Amino acid sequence: MERKEENITVAVRIRPLQERELASTAEIAWEKKDNNIIKEKKGTREFIFDRVYDSTTQTSEIFNDLALKVINKCMEGYNGCIFCYGQTGSGKTFTMHGMKKLPGIVPQAIESIFTSIQKSSQKEFLIRCSYVEIYNESVNDLLNSNSLNLQLAEDHINGIKIIGVTEEVCTSPNQVQSLLVLGETHKNIASTSFNQRSSRAHSIFRVIVESKNTYGKPELSVASLNLIDLAGSESANVHTVSASSARAREMKYINRSLLTLSTVIMRLSDSKNAVPIPYRDSKLTRLLQPALEGDSKVNIICNISPCALTFEETLSTLKFAQRAK
Ligand code: ADP
Ligand code: MG
Repeated sequence: MERKEENITVAVRIRPLQERELASTAEIAWEKKDNNIIKEKKGTREFIFDRVYDSTTQTSEIFNDLALKVINKCMEGYNGCIFCYGQTGSGKTFTMHGMKKLPGIVPQAIESIFTSIQKSSQKEFLIRCSYVEIYNESVNDLLNSNSLNLQLAEDHINGIKIIGVTEEVCTSPNQVQSLLVLGETHKNIASTSFNQRSSRAHSIFRVIVESKNTYGKPELSVASLNLIDLAGSESANVHTVSASSARAREMKYINRSLLTLSTVIMRLSDSKNAVPIPYRDSKLTRLLQPALEGDSKVNIICNISPCALTFEETLSTLKFAQRAK
Protein backbone atom coordinates (compact mmCIF):
# COMPACT_ATOMS: atom_id res chain seq x y z
CA MET A 1 0.00 0.00 0.00
CA GLU A 2 1.33 3.42 -0.88
CA ARG A 3 1.54 5.92 1.87
CA LYS A 4 0.02 9.33 1.35
CA GLU A 5 2.10 12.22 2.54
CA GLU A 6 -0.70 13.81 4.53
CA ASN A 7 -0.54 10.90 6.94
CA ILE A 8 2.60 12.43 8.42
CA THR A 9 2.57 15.85 10.04
CA VAL A 10 5.73 17.52 11.29
CA ALA A 11 5.52 20.51 13.63
CA VAL A 12 7.99 22.60 15.63
CA ARG A 13 7.24 23.99 19.06
CA ILE A 14 9.44 26.77 20.47
CA ARG A 15 9.35 26.84 24.26
CA PRO A 16 9.65 30.00 26.40
CA LEU A 17 13.12 30.98 27.59
CA GLN A 18 14.06 29.53 30.95
CA GLU A 19 15.56 31.46 33.86
CA ARG A 20 19.01 30.13 33.16
CA GLU A 21 18.74 31.35 29.59
CA LEU A 22 17.29 34.72 30.59
CA ALA A 23 20.11 35.19 33.07
CA SER A 24 22.75 34.50 30.45
CA THR A 25 23.92 36.97 27.85
CA ALA A 26 22.88 34.63 25.07
CA GLU A 27 20.41 36.02 22.60
CA ILE A 28 17.35 34.60 20.94
CA ALA A 29 18.50 32.68 17.92
CA TRP A 30 15.28 31.29 16.43
CA GLU A 31 11.86 32.77 15.84
CA LYS A 32 8.60 31.88 14.20
CA LYS A 33 8.18 33.72 10.93
CA ASP A 34 4.89 32.35 9.78
CA ASN A 35 2.45 29.62 10.79
CA ASN A 36 4.71 27.13 9.08
CA ILE A 37 8.12 28.80 8.94
CA ILE A 38 10.85 29.08 11.55
CA LYS A 39 13.85 31.30 10.87
CA GLU A 40 17.21 32.11 12.28
CA LYS A 41 16.85 35.53 13.86
CA LYS A 42 20.12 37.02 12.70
CA GLY A 43 20.99 34.65 9.89
CA THR A 44 19.38 33.42 6.74
CA ARG A 45 18.38 29.89 7.63
CA GLU A 46 14.70 29.10 7.26
CA PHE A 47 12.81 25.85 7.66
CA ILE A 48 9.31 25.07 6.48
CA PHE A 49 7.09 22.61 8.37
CA ASP A 50 3.39 21.83 8.57
CA ARG A 51 3.11 24.00 11.66
CA VAL A 52 5.35 26.19 13.79
CA TYR A 53 4.25 27.14 17.30
CA ASP A 54 5.89 29.89 19.31
CA SER A 55 6.28 30.19 23.07
CA THR A 56 2.80 31.68 23.55
CA THR A 57 1.06 28.53 22.29
CA GLN A 58 -0.72 26.33 24.82
CA THR A 59 -0.53 22.57 24.47
CA SER A 60 -4.32 22.48 24.07
CA GLU A 61 -3.97 24.37 20.79
CA ILE A 62 -1.42 21.86 19.49
CA PHE A 63 -3.69 19.10 20.70
CA ASN A 64 -6.68 20.48 18.79
CA ASP A 65 -4.66 21.22 15.64
CA LEU A 66 -2.76 17.96 15.35
CA ALA A 67 -3.29 15.27 17.94
CA LEU A 68 -7.08 15.21 17.80
CA LYS A 69 -7.04 14.03 14.18
CA VAL A 70 -4.80 11.12 15.10
CA ILE A 71 -7.03 10.21 18.04
CA ASN A 72 -10.26 10.46 16.06
CA LYS A 73 -8.80 8.24 13.36
CA CYS A 74 -7.77 5.77 16.04
CA MET A 75 -11.37 5.62 17.28
CA GLU A 76 -12.28 4.68 13.69
CA GLY A 77 -9.75 1.86 13.63
CA TYR A 78 -6.56 3.45 12.25
CA ASN A 79 -3.27 3.19 14.13
CA GLY A 80 -1.47 6.35 15.13
CA CYS A 81 1.76 7.69 16.62
CA ILE A 82 2.54 11.04 18.20
CA PHE A 83 6.23 11.69 18.89
CA CYS A 84 7.95 14.43 20.83
CA TYR A 85 11.51 14.87 19.59
CA GLY A 86 14.21 17.22 20.85
CA GLN A 87 17.17 17.66 23.14
CA THR A 88 16.82 17.26 26.90
CA GLY A 89 15.19 20.37 28.35
CA SER A 90 13.47 21.38 25.11
CA GLY A 91 9.93 20.64 26.32
CA LYS A 92 9.16 17.08 25.17
CA THR A 93 7.70 15.88 28.46
CA PHE A 94 5.92 19.20 28.97
CA THR A 95 4.27 18.73 25.57
CA MET A 96 3.51 15.03 25.91
CA HIS A 97 2.55 14.72 29.59
CA GLY A 98 2.35 18.31 30.82
CA MET A 99 1.79 19.30 34.41
CA LYS A 100 -1.24 19.26 36.69
CA LYS A 101 -2.67 22.61 35.65
CA LEU A 102 -1.21 22.48 32.15
CA PRO A 103 -2.16 19.06 30.81
CA GLY A 104 -0.10 17.65 27.96
CA ILE A 105 -1.21 15.59 25.00
CA VAL A 106 -1.57 12.33 26.94
CA PRO A 107 -4.18 13.46 29.50
CA GLN A 108 -6.09 15.38 26.81
CA ALA A 109 -6.06 12.31 24.57
CA ILE A 110 -7.45 10.17 27.38
CA GLU A 111 -10.26 12.64 28.09
CA SER A 112 -11.08 12.81 24.41
CA ILE A 113 -11.16 9.02 23.99
CA PHE A 114 -13.56 8.48 26.89
CA THR A 115 -15.76 11.39 25.84
CA SER A 116 -16.16 10.00 22.35
CA ILE A 117 -16.91 6.54 23.77
CA GLN A 118 -19.71 8.07 25.85
CA LYS A 119 -21.14 9.82 22.82
CA SER A 120 -21.05 6.75 20.64
CA SER A 121 -24.27 4.79 20.40
CA GLN A 122 -23.32 2.67 17.39
CA LYS A 123 -20.23 1.03 18.84
CA GLU A 124 -18.97 -0.66 21.95
CA PHE A 125 -15.40 0.01 22.97
CA LEU A 126 -12.76 -1.76 24.99
CA ILE A 127 -9.72 0.27 26.03
CA ARG A 128 -6.44 -1.31 27.11
CA CYS A 129 -3.27 0.53 28.05
CA SER A 130 0.37 -0.37 28.26
CA TYR A 131 3.39 1.70 29.15
CA VAL A 132 6.93 0.71 28.23
CA GLU A 133 10.33 2.29 27.95
CA ILE A 134 13.11 1.38 25.56
CA TYR A 135 16.44 1.82 27.27
CA ASN A 136 19.62 0.58 25.61
CA GLU A 137 17.50 -1.40 23.12
CA SER A 138 15.82 -3.20 25.98
CA VAL A 139 12.01 -3.00 26.28
CA ASN A 140 10.98 -2.62 29.93
CA ASP A 141 7.43 -2.72 31.28
CA LEU A 142 6.73 0.47 33.22
CA LEU A 143 3.60 -1.10 34.70
CA ASN A 144 5.53 -4.02 36.19
CA SER A 145 9.01 -3.30 37.48
CA ASN A 146 9.92 -7.00 37.34
CA SER A 147 9.34 -7.16 33.60
CA LEU A 148 12.59 -6.14 31.98
CA ASN A 149 13.98 -6.81 28.52
CA LEU A 150 10.71 -8.01 26.99
CA GLN A 151 10.93 -9.65 23.59
CA LEU A 152 9.04 -8.69 20.46
CA ALA A 153 7.33 -11.20 18.21
CA GLU A 154 5.40 -11.20 14.96
CA ASP A 155 1.68 -11.33 15.49
CA HIS A 156 -0.57 -11.98 12.51
CA ILE A 157 -3.38 -9.81 13.89
CA ASN A 158 -1.62 -6.76 15.27
CA GLY A 159 1.68 -6.97 13.42
CA ILE A 160 4.05 -6.94 16.37
CA LYS A 161 3.47 -7.85 19.98
CA ILE A 162 5.50 -7.38 23.14
CA ILE A 163 5.57 -10.76 24.83
CA GLY A 164 4.34 -10.58 28.43
CA VAL A 165 3.66 -6.84 28.55
CA THR A 166 1.03 -5.63 31.02
CA GLU A 167 -2.14 -4.48 29.27
CA GLU A 168 -4.67 -3.01 31.68
CA VAL A 169 -8.30 -2.74 30.67
CA CYS A 170 -9.40 0.80 31.54
CA THR A 171 -12.92 2.15 31.89
CA SER A 172 -12.28 5.73 33.01
CA PRO A 173 -9.75 8.54 32.58
CA ASN A 174 -8.88 8.29 36.28
CA GLN A 175 -7.91 4.68 35.90
CA VAL A 176 -5.60 5.53 33.00
CA GLN A 177 -4.15 8.40 35.02
CA SER A 178 -3.24 6.05 37.85
CA LEU A 179 -1.42 3.78 35.38
CA LEU A 180 0.61 6.75 34.24
CA VAL A 181 1.49 7.54 37.84
CA LEU A 182 2.49 3.93 38.40
CA GLY A 183 4.67 4.05 35.29
CA GLU A 184 6.42 7.18 36.53
CA THR A 185 7.19 5.47 39.86
CA HIS A 186 8.81 2.60 38.05
CA LYS A 187 10.92 4.96 35.99
CA ASN A 188 12.09 6.33 39.33
CA ILE A 189 12.87 2.96 40.84
CA ALA A 190 14.86 1.88 37.84
CA SER A 191 17.31 4.74 38.10
CA THR A 192 19.49 6.53 40.58
CA SER A 193 18.98 9.80 38.80
CA PHE A 194 15.47 10.02 37.41
CA ASN A 195 16.01 12.92 35.08
CA GLN A 196 19.21 11.63 33.62
CA ARG A 197 17.89 8.17 33.08
CA SER A 198 14.53 9.20 31.69
CA SER A 199 16.17 11.48 29.15
CA ARG A 200 18.02 8.45 27.78
CA ALA A 201 15.02 6.21 27.33
CA HIS A 202 12.14 6.38 24.88
CA SER A 203 8.82 6.03 26.66
CA ILE A 204 5.79 4.72 24.83
CA PHE A 205 2.32 5.03 26.29
CA ARG A 206 0.00 2.87 24.21
CA VAL A 207 -3.79 2.92 24.15
CA ILE A 208 -5.38 0.01 22.32
CA VAL A 209 -8.85 0.84 21.08
CA GLU A 210 -11.01 -2.15 20.29
CA SER A 211 -14.49 -1.52 18.96
CA LYS A 212 -17.43 -3.46 17.63
CA ASN A 213 -20.77 -2.45 16.19
CA THR A 214 -23.63 -2.74 18.64
CA TYR A 215 -26.05 -3.76 15.91
CA GLY A 216 -25.94 -4.65 12.24
CA LYS A 217 -22.93 -6.53 10.96
CA PRO A 218 -20.62 -7.48 13.85
CA GLU A 219 -17.56 -5.57 12.69
CA LEU A 220 -14.58 -5.65 15.02
CA SER A 221 -11.69 -3.25 14.76
CA VAL A 222 -8.48 -2.85 16.75
CA ALA A 223 -6.20 0.15 16.59
CA SER A 224 -3.34 1.45 18.72
CA LEU A 225 -2.53 5.00 19.66
CA ASN A 226 1.13 5.41 20.59
CA LEU A 227 2.25 8.48 22.53
CA ILE A 228 6.02 8.65 22.53
CA ASP A 229 8.36 10.81 24.60
CA LEU A 230 11.67 10.18 22.84
CA ALA A 231 15.11 10.07 24.42
CA GLY A 232 17.02 13.35 24.32
CA SER A 233 18.33 13.90 20.82
CA GLU A 234 21.62 15.41 22.05
CA SER A 235 22.72 11.80 22.40
CA ALA A 236 22.52 11.53 18.66
CA ASN A 237 25.51 13.84 18.38
CA VAL A 238 28.07 11.17 18.95
CA HIS A 239 31.01 13.40 18.14
CA THR A 240 30.35 15.50 21.26
CA VAL A 241 31.11 12.58 23.52
CA SER A 242 34.09 11.98 25.61
CA ALA A 243 32.06 9.83 27.89
CA SER A 244 32.28 6.84 30.15
CA SER A 245 31.68 3.55 28.41
CA ALA A 246 28.20 3.26 29.94
CA ARG A 247 27.29 6.67 28.60
CA ALA A 248 28.86 5.92 25.24
CA ARG A 249 26.80 2.74 25.03
CA GLU A 250 23.58 4.65 25.79
CA MET A 251 24.43 7.21 23.16
CA LYS A 252 25.19 4.59 20.56
CA TYR A 253 21.76 3.02 21.08
CA ILE A 254 19.88 6.32 21.12
CA ASN A 255 21.75 7.49 18.08
CA ARG A 256 20.88 4.34 16.19
CA SER A 257 17.19 4.38 17.07
CA LEU A 258 16.68 8.10 16.31
CA LEU A 259 18.54 7.76 13.05
CA THR A 260 16.45 4.73 12.11
CA LEU A 261 13.29 6.61 13.06
CA SER A 262 14.20 9.50 10.80
CA THR A 263 15.07 7.16 7.92
CA VAL A 264 11.80 5.29 8.35
CA ILE A 265 9.74 8.49 8.42
CA MET A 266 11.62 9.92 5.46
CA ARG A 267 11.00 6.81 3.38
CA LEU A 268 7.35 6.69 4.42
CA SER A 269 6.75 10.24 3.24
CA ASP A 270 8.51 9.52 -0.03
CA SER A 271 5.92 7.25 -1.58
CA LYS A 272 7.42 7.43 -5.08
CA ASN A 273 10.56 5.73 -3.94
CA ALA A 274 10.04 2.02 -3.47
CA VAL A 275 13.08 1.54 -1.23
CA PRO A 276 12.82 -0.87 1.69
CA ILE A 277 11.97 0.65 5.05
CA PRO A 278 14.39 -0.44 7.81
CA TYR A 279 11.89 -0.99 10.64
CA ARG A 280 14.01 -3.81 11.99
CA ASP A 281 17.07 -1.67 12.59
CA SER A 282 15.80 -0.55 16.01
CA LYS A 283 13.37 -1.77 18.68
CA LEU A 284 11.54 1.56 18.54
CA THR A 285 10.66 1.34 14.85
CA ARG A 286 10.07 -2.40 14.95
CA LEU A 287 7.64 -2.00 17.84
CA LEU A 288 5.86 0.89 16.13
CA GLN A 289 5.88 -0.52 12.60
CA PRO A 290 2.13 -1.29 12.48
CA ALA A 291 1.41 2.24 13.68
CA LEU A 292 3.73 3.88 11.13
CA GLU A 293 2.95 2.03 7.93
CA GLY A 294 -0.12 1.88 5.73
CA ASP A 295 -2.92 4.27 6.63
CA SER A 296 -1.53 5.11 10.06
CA LYS A 297 -1.52 8.73 11.19
CA VAL A 298 1.75 10.16 12.47
CA ASN A 299 2.51 13.47 14.23
CA ILE A 300 6.05 14.52 15.01
CA ILE A 301 6.41 17.49 17.32
CA CYS A 302 9.95 18.81 17.43
CA ASN A 303 10.63 20.76 20.61
CA ILE A 304 13.26 23.47 20.68
CA SER A 305 14.56 26.31 22.81
CA PRO A 306 14.84 29.66 21.00
CA CYS A 307 18.06 30.46 22.87
CA ALA A 308 21.46 30.79 21.19
CA LEU A 309 23.03 28.74 24.01
CA THR A 310 21.80 25.58 22.31
CA PHE A 311 22.04 26.76 18.71
CA GLU A 312 23.76 23.64 17.37
CA GLU A 313 21.35 21.24 19.08
CA THR A 314 18.37 23.16 17.79
CA LEU A 315 19.82 23.21 14.30
CA SER A 316 20.23 19.45 14.40
CA THR A 317 16.63 19.04 15.62
CA LEU A 318 15.39 21.21 12.75
CA LYS A 319 17.43 19.17 10.30
CA PHE A 320 15.97 15.98 11.69
CA ALA A 321 12.48 17.43 11.34
CA GLN A 322 13.22 18.57 7.80
CA ARG A 323 14.39 15.11 6.89
CA ALA A 324 11.13 13.69 8.21
CA LYS A 325 9.14 16.04 6.02
P1 ADP B 1 12.39 17.50 28.04
O1 ADP B 1 11.35 16.49 28.38
O2 ADP B 1 12.53 17.72 26.56
O3 ADP B 1 13.73 17.19 28.66
P2 ADP B 1 10.83 19.27 29.68
O4 ADP B 1 9.49 19.01 29.09
O5 ADP B 1 11.14 18.59 30.96
O6 ADP B 1 11.97 18.92 28.62
O7 ADP B 1 10.99 20.85 29.77
C1 ADP B 1 12.06 21.47 30.47
C2 ADP B 1 11.49 22.57 31.37
O8 ADP B 1 10.88 23.60 30.58
C3 ADP B 1 10.43 22.07 32.31
O9 ADP B 1 10.58 22.76 33.53
C4 ADP B 1 9.14 22.46 31.63
O10 ADP B 1 8.09 22.65 32.55
C5 ADP B 1 9.50 23.76 30.94
N1 ADP B 1 8.75 23.96 29.68
C6 ADP B 1 8.95 23.29 28.52
N2 ADP B 1 8.14 23.71 27.55
C7 ADP B 1 7.37 24.68 28.10
C8 ADP B 1 6.31 25.52 27.60
N3 ADP B 1 5.88 25.44 26.33
N4 ADP B 1 5.76 26.40 28.46
C9 ADP B 1 6.19 26.49 29.74
N5 ADP B 1 7.17 25.74 30.26
C10 ADP B 1 7.76 24.84 29.47
MG1 MG C 1 11.60 14.73 29.40
